[in-house]
Amino acid sequence: MLRFEELTKSYCTAHNQVHALKSVQGHIEKGTTVALCGPSGSGKSTLLNICGLLDPEYQGKIYLDNELVPHNKKALTQLRREKIGFIFQRYNLIPVMTAFENIEYPLLMLGISKSERYKRVAKMIEAVGLAKFAKQRPDQLSGGQQQRVAIARALVKEPALIIADEPTANLDTETAHLVIDLMRTLGKQLGCTFLIATHDHRMTDRCDRILTLSDGNIVEQTTTPLHPVSH
Ligand code: ADP
Ligand code: ADP
Repeated sequence: MLRFEELTKSYCTAHNQVHALKSVQGHIEKGTTVALCGPSGSGKSTLLNICGLLDPEYQGKIYLDNELVPHNKKALTQLRREKIGFIFQRYNLIPVMTAFENIEYPLLMLGISKSERYKRVAKMIEAVGLAKFAKQRPDQLSGGQQQRVAIARALVKEPALIIADEPTANLDTETAHLVIDLMRTLGKQLGCTFLIATHDHRMTDRCDRILTLSDGNIVEQTTTPLHPVSH
């Protein structure tokens, strides 16, 4: 589903060159959930940004659904809007929009009609258990509720790939489990693939595989036993 080959990325600073990714290879099968681990500075954000089609400045090749990802910025933006959903540690909801409008936003960007948007958002807000909160703004919601809105926003366009950056870091254990189960259950229903940068064992324990980055190299690809989704 996602494959990257000889992925290399260097940042030029005023003083030196930082080699953030050193010709890494990897692949993620469709429908699986992969955790990306590694210490701070090991290259996780760099890999997420490239695989999330946010950064066209890299050497190497990425294939998404067997198609070579272009480096051209305009094509990349279009592909990203269609195929990638994002979930962040700090939720990154738009503060002036209601929960409903936040979830609707990616569909608006794709030019989907109002009636179709309404149908899809209503279904998704129900799926994350927040139908009653549709008209609330983010500051009127708890952290866990905000992250559930963010999950609905990421999944509403039924993207091929979800990129998540420490999605449970700010959540207590009970809420984290709820969020993880929601991501897995809804993701499986929609056939999404997840690449999740996380140090959270509550999360890595439930992922299908773990990729570990160290100093710009992938050093370990562990296969974890499959955990059933708990209810
Ligand atoms: P992680 O997400 O694992 O903390 P990053 O991908 O953010 O790692 O960083 C990998 C390396 O690249 C680090 O050495 C970091 O300092 C460097 N780096 C990241 N972004 C930039 C940038 N915009 N300019 C210069 N160096 C950067
Ligand atoms: P928009 O739909 O507002 O035009 P984009 O198409 O540029 O946004 O981006 C699509 C998704 O990528 C959005 O969900 C946005 O939150 C996320 N995104 C855009 N730029 C960045 C960035 N620099 N870092 C992290 N996420 C970003």
